[in-house]
Amino acid sequence: VLIAFEGGEGAGKSTQVRRLHEWLTEEGLGARTTLEPGGTPSGGRIRAILLDPASSGLSPRSEALLYAADRAQHVHDVLRPALDAGEVVITDRFVDSSLAYQGAGRTIPMDDVRSISRWATQGLQPDLTVLLDLPPEVGLARARGRAAADRMESESLEFHQRVRQTFVALAEAEPDRYLVLDARQSPDELAAAIRRRVSVLLEG
Ligand code: C5P
Repeated sequence: VLIAFEGGEGAGKSTQVRRLHEWLTEEGLGARTTLEPGGTPSGGRIRAILLDPASSGLSPRSEALLYAADRAQHVHDVLRPALDAGEVVITDRFVDSSLAYQGAGRTIPMDDVRSISRWATQGLQPDLTVLLDLPPEVGLARARGRAAADRMESESLEFHQRVRQTFVALAEAEPDRYLVLDARQSPDELAAAIRRRVSVLLEG
């Protein structure tokens, strides 16, 4: 079972990924958590390029291909083997992030992002995608309050608004596969809602 978490800057994905993992472990189900970009050693090096403020000259297409390369390695080394072994896998970001950031954000045609993503993943899709939805001005303020800035935080508010709208539109197009939550709720409320949905998924 593959569960993806998606959302903009400062939405609280990593906290909720950790909480879901802790709960599944307590329940004796076990799960593996991973992330994009950077879920493999080579992917970690790709992540460093992608997030380095010095990479501001990356073209949209080369950025999209680097995300696709990171994802291809992630599917090959981590996701596919774990899923084939019957594990529950939780990934912090997946293909929808590329549709939102490289597609809507960098204005690469959606069909192009879809096709390089499908090629990179060999068609792998999440069973459930949890979208932590947040107005970008709230998320950016949260993100800027913590660690060192990455390259994306210097993007305009309009960029992040396009990203958000795309995540929401993707979720609306496939309501059965998404859980959309208002990320302004407390971490406890979010964790409880996610547990309820994941229980249904794992029982089904
Ligand atoms: O989720 P995380 O904070 O680790 O993502 C790192 C950065 O990469 C974020 O600033 C995010 O906006 C950016 N990103 C992106 N395109 C993707 C995935 C992440 O621009 N496909």
